[in-house]
Amino acid sequence: MIWLWRKELAFLILFIVIAAIISHFIGHFLHLLVLIFSFIIIRQAILLTQLERWLSRRAIGKIPTGFGIWSDIYYHFYRIKQQDKQRKKKLAKIIEQFRQSTDVLPDAAIVLGNNDEIEWTNKLTKLVLGIKKSDKGQRIDNLIRTPEFIKFLKAKNESAILTLPSPVDNNLILQFRMVSYGVKQRLIIAHDVTQQKNMEAMRKNFVDNISHELRTPLTVLKGYIETLQDLDDNPSAIQRHSLDKMQAQTDRMQYLVDDLLLLARLETKKKKTECVDINQLIKKICSETQAIEKNQARIKLNLESSIRIMGEEQDLHSAFTNLIINALKYSAKDKPVTVSWKTVKDQNIFEVTDQGEGISMSEIPRITERFYRIDIKRPTKLSGTGLGLAIVKHVLIRHDAKLEIKSKPGKGSQFKCIFPRSLPDTNI
Ligand code: ADP
Repeated sequence: MIWLWRKELAFLILFIVIAAIISHFIGHFLHLLVLIFSFIIIRQAILLTQLERWLSRRAIGKIPTGFGIWSDIYYHFYRIKQQDKQRKKKLAKIIEQFRQSTDVLPDAAIVLGNNDEIEWTNKLTKLVLGIKKSDKGQRIDNLIRTPEFIKFLKAKNESAILTLPSPVDNNLILQFRMVSYGVKQRLIIAHDVTQQKNMEAMRKNFVDNISHELRTPLTVLKGYIETLQDLDDNPSAIQRHSLDKMQAQTDRMQYLVDDLLLLARLETKKKKTECVDINQLIKKICSETQAIEKNQARIKLNLESSIRIMGEEQDLHSAFTNLIINALKYSAKDKPVTVSWKTVKDQNIFEVTDQGEGISMSEIPRITERFYRIDIKRPTKLSGTGLGLAIVKHVLIRHDAKLEIKSKPGKGSQFKCIFPRSLPDTNI
């Protein structure tokens, strides 16, 4: 850089020398010096103006030419401009590649800004959500106004999944997910799950129909088995054994069909609420369990609350019975089972605690799935349909309640049905 300034300095010295030579003949050295400096200042001012004009035109067009240090300054500007051009080209290419890849994404994607305004959308968003590129800047809750979607948006819960029909086509079922990134930005992904949901509905319909169709033949079969058992006063051992086996299997099938029909009913029927006296209900269930548990002293009742809740008695009866029977079934004959009904803060809790075989942590999330049974080697085989806890889960959902399971293998389990106090209740 120094040598560039040296060039300028050399010119200055040259001018001063020329002025000194001229002044030797005509005098007025100082005047000549003032003239030289004025010339230099004017020249710098012209070049600066040139540069300022060029920059004010956003450095577009031909780069001005200069002399000495100025030619180098212009050259540096030219180089920066070229690099900038290349960087822009590269960036445009990356953006285009990104746009192309997001347009072929199988999901609709929307980027939301700080105030839920739309910043960017991909091609599929228009097709499945009806949101166009021109909607950029609009708040998404002005375009998708479904209450469930607005709740999902406000909750800002990244693990939440929302399933909704598409606002442009009711036959299209979409599953929404949300992720936060950058500075208060959010990405919403809408995945088409129509096929999956249709398959699930088909499977459910098939199971519901089959269960319905099996009811009559089962009743007939059971009737004939009972008739055959009554017919012969002195049946042979093989006859008795066969009939007992047939009865046990038809009973098992009957439980399965009944549970499946109950599940189907829970998912489709309209909510009907009545005031349910939970204390009375628990006592009734416990006396009914006498049929399977002769030793009634095993059941310890702990009815601390007299609160009644609004709900469906028949469904609560099924759910509570399943939990109590499970506790009795999956623990040793001499171990107690505690059944409680209590109010803690803003919750009404129905609780069943046993000291049985327990459930491992990894199995807990799965045991409420339909037909899920834990495969443990037990001394005696325990019968069951694997539908009991699925029924409990559905009944609780219908009552805005939740199931909490705590368990330790070998120590026992605790099943809590937690009903919110906000549910209309009546204190006796
Ligand atoms: P089922 O009892 O008919 O098999 P459930 O849906 O009621 O079906 O229960 C699913 C599984 O959860 C059971 O097979 C059992 O392994 C486990 N389970 C349920 N309740 C208990 C309990 N109180 N203690 C230990 N395991 C249990």
